[in-house]
Amino acid sequence: MSGTPQQSQRSPSRRRSLPTHSPQTGAEPIRHSPSRHPHTTHRSGIIRSRIRNTGEMVFIPFSNGADFLPDSSCAQFRCTRILHRAMANHDPNTYTIIFAGGGAAALSLAAQLVQSPLSHLRMLILDPDPKDRNDRTWCFWSTEPVFCESIVSHRWNHLAFVSDGTNLHLDTHPYDYRVIHSIDFYRHTHSILEASGRVHVVQASVESITDAGNEDDMATVIADGVTYRADWVFDSRWVAVAYRGTDPRCHYLQQHFLGWTIRTPDDRFTPDRATLFDLRVPQDGVFRFVYTLPFSTREAMVEYTLFSADLLAPPQYRKALETYLSDQLGITEYEILDEESCVIPMTDESFPRAAGKKIMRIGTRGGRVKASTGYAFLRIQQDSAAIVRSMIERGTPFHNRRPPRRYHTFDAMLLQILFRRGERGKEVFTALFTRNPVSRIFRFLDEVGTVRENLLLMATVPWFLFIRAWFAIRFSKRV
Ligand SMILES: Cc1cc2nc3c(=O)[nH]c(=O)nc-3n(C[C@H](O)[C@H](O)[C@H](O)COP(=O)(O)OP(=O)(O)OC[C@H]3O[C@@H](n4cnc5c(N)ncnc54)[C@H](O)[C@@H]3O)c2cc1C
Repeated sequence: MSGTPQQSQRSPSRRRSLPTHSPQTGAEPIRHSPSRHPHTTHRSGIIRSRIRNTGEMVFIPFSNGADFLPDSSCAQFRCTRILHRAMANHDPNTYTIIFAGGGAAALSLAAQLVQSPLSHLRMLILDPDPKDRNDRTWCFWSTEPVFCESIVSHRWNHLAFVSDGTNLHLDTHPYDYRVIHSIDFYRHTHSILEASGRVHVVQASVESITDAGNEDDMATVIADGVTYRADWVFDSRWVAVAYRGTDPRCHYLQQHFLGWTIRTPDDRFTPDRATLFDLRVPQDGVFRFVYTLPFSTREAMVEYTLFSADLLAPPQYRKALETYLSDQLGITEYEILDEESCVIPMTDESFPRAAGKKIMRIGTRGGRVKASTGYAFLRIQQDSAAIVRSMIERGTPFHNRRPPRRYHTFDAMLLQILFRRGERGKEVFTALFTRNPVSRIFRFLDEVGTVRENLLLMATVPWFLFIRAWFAIRFSKRV
């Protein structure tokens, strides 16, 4: 965005950590508040430094995270070192942070960083995709304003759940169900990054990432033959194809769909109610449903979705959508305005966050997709906020925000049911939505419900299916 990095083919070299008052840094730390000593046990303050050649003042709030770190590795010191390294290094291909992949996760984190006290850090985003198309529609639920709230294009306070003989109109209070179009998100985050003047975006494909040899080294990234180096690398490279891991004890399902945004010549949709599930489609041993986001009485996005191990041939999705529109909604005349398709991994395999001392995986690659639903957008925003907080407070992006372990087991049990008995998915979801308030379901899926709430919810689903699934994942070596 602001300038283009130059070509450099240097191999990674070992770097010494810079002393706080090094004359080579180009920076004169004027005063450390509240203490001069970098290993102070004070928990917060401001580092004030002057960049020697420009005379510019830099203010960096810090907290040394004394609760988490020994004094010898306190975040104040790391923060100072990061500042010095960034200012000292005149190699244009050296950054504090490099993002390998520039999709939802990287853009969210970069935008949250430039809006934080770490806004001065030099960052680089590498992605071959220019992100100039509306390639996906993100939906999520929340009770509060979220990052990018200004680009939420629609929100619903009511959802429908439809199955054979069941037609539920659900009040989502205190949540609302929101939608963001990816093109709005890409434009919005790119404009935040551009305005910061600290972030370069380069259209290039990352070929390799090599970790730092030790804590004081930098990681090396090679993209389109160019070598870059950084203190931290966030890796979110992902291509939306079916993900099939190799752990025989894990489930590898895919959420796959074809969605059309259609316009009808007359009023066909109820714009104040989105349909989360319409299960009135032939299941044929696999959990399938149609999901509808009505944007007006004549315009809606309609998606034919499956949770299964194998994908369909493209004409099968199209045929299923046409049949649903005509047979269930009585819509035969419509114009297709946009088309969206996807494959999202649904797996209980744990994706490690750390790919090295200085390499952190984020987004889908970092396991942010909820295994049993395929939702990831809000989880990515929350993860970005936790990473920024951890960098400020502890000097490392590796935060320790984890949901209780039981949610992993719940996900694995549902995946086992969908994997082995896909035809029973309809029964499970119908019980879930018929017998629980939406807020309890959302809290469960957000992994924030209490044990009592979890038990209340589990008591409403066909428990024998879940017990059988639990035994299968607990005692067999293959799922
Ligand atoms: C069509 C679709 C609809 C979705 N809808 C929802 C939804 O409604 N709600 C929800 O919560 N979640 C949804 N998701 C799931 C999830 O939120 C998205 O997949 C989200 O984009 C994940 O963010 P990410 O950064 O991990 O991956 P992406 O946004 O896919 O970014 C990965 C990036 O890596 C880049 N890349 C790949 N290879 C390389 C390489 N070698 N070098 C550099 N870059 C590379 C790609 O070009 C891409 O830009 C949806 C996903 C899809 C595909």
